Amino acid sequence: MSRRRRIGVMGGTFDPIHHGHLVAASEVQAQFGLEQVVFVPTGQPWQKSHEVVSPAEDRYLMTVIATASNPRFLVSRVDIDRGGPTYTVDTLSDLREQYPDTDLYFITGADALEQIVSWHRVVELFDMAHFIGVTRPGYSLDGAHLPKGAVSLVEIPAMAISSTGCRDRVRAGLPVWYLVPDGIVQYITKRGLYREGSDSPAVEW
Ligand code: ATP
Ligand code: MG
Repeated sequence: MSRRRRIGVMGGTFDPIHHGHLVAASEVQAQFGLEQVVFVPTGQPWQKSHEVVSPAEDRYLMTVIATASNPRFLVSRVDIDRGGPTYTVDTLSDLREQYPDTDLYFITGADALEQIVSWHRVVELFDMAHFIGVTRPGYSLDGAHLPKGAVSLVEIPAMAISSTGCRDRVRAGLPVWYLVPDGIVQYITKRGLYREGSDSPAVEW
């Protein structure tokens, strides 16, 4: 009997995508024998509505650029094209329609996992996908009050990188080389992202 397909789902704001995201996806792909990992950039993130988030098309293109060389990585526009705030329950419903007879593995960092109980319709989520919590420097997985057996915890090579840190560095004129893929350094420069008072990204996509 053939095994059901296994597809990973890596949701994020990806503003910008960095090597922490890529290592997490790659490690879970290998450990769980996933056919593919789908990166899903959020629409307007509801938990970050107080912050300024780069245009969805910039975040989408950066995610495409960063994942293009890996045949097991692909990018989905479901959350961007749906419009409105992104809820993981909608992401997983859409992907389940797109990938029938498939087990979905939702990959999330330790910080996001701590907040998981605050998520919209959390009980349904655990029925829709396996949840994989990955380690992240600065965050502990112990404190998260998660239903027993609902989440698999995976240790990944430590990457103390965050998008916030990358944005702060660009704003301060510091390099982000080697924190993000080369193409992302170039894309950030080309679009003038994260620089206060720059003309870009005033461009509306
Ligand atoms: P920000 O600082 O803007 O919140 P971020 O670096 O946390 O950005 P997100 O797009 O918010 O990146 O995260 C997407 C997912 O990737 C989340 O599940 C997050 O926990 C996980 N993640 C992000 N960075 C790392 C990292 N360095 N190691 C492990 N997981 C990570
Ligand atoms: Mg984050």
